[in-house]
Amino acid sequence: MGRIIVISGPSGSGKTTICWRLLEMFPELAYSVSTTTRKKRNNEKEGIDYYFVDKVEFKGMIGNNEFIEWEEVHGDLYGTLYRDIEKKRNEKAGILMDIDPKGGINIKRLYPDSVLIFLSVPSIETLIERLSKRRTEDGFDIGKRVERAKEEFELSKNYDFIVENNDIDITLKKVSNIIKENMF
Ligand code: 5GP
Repeated sequence: MGRIIVISGPSGSGKTTICWRLLEMFPELAYSVSTTTRKKRNNEKEGIDYYFVDKVEFKGMIGNNEFIEWEEVHGDLYGTLYRDIEKKRNEKAGILMDIDPKGGINIKRLYPDSVLIFLSVPSIETLIERLSKRRTEDGFDIGKRVERAKEEFELSKNYDFIVENNDIDITLKKVSNIIKENMF
């Protein structure tokens, strides 16, 4: 059975880049494709980055118990599908999830051998600076993201590993070492 690796971290911590680089490094890892009600960004693909649905559909899926866990993040709903995870756990040595810390804590409760890794930033000021540069989305609200980041830092106390992302290559080395030591 594949072991679950959860990567969490505030918006601006670089976790999407880290996740895609990890998937290139470890072909034995499958990516957990979440379902979301958020609008698709230009560079995203249906079924690769997310399954994009509307709120009515998402709520129907909650009613049908299709999610292992789901959360509201920045006003949109995000959830991990049972069928996606169970299939990938049978096929691959590991599953990589990019989900928020509340979701990560729920996953650990359900799959106690999962590994929770939190990507941190050196300071709130650094986070604000990175978010200002990345202001690409509609309704992008830096203040709200910073508030949420503070809550996420608090929850990261429950994580197995906290890695500060200052330099992408160094971070990638640290995270890949954690994966090697804990998965194979
Ligand atoms: P974004 O909209 O930037 O892709 O993601 C926003 C946040 O939602 C990120 O913190 C991401 O990790 C989280 N997220 C994505 N998918 C899921 C999921 O299935 N469950 C939970 N709990 N969080 C998710």
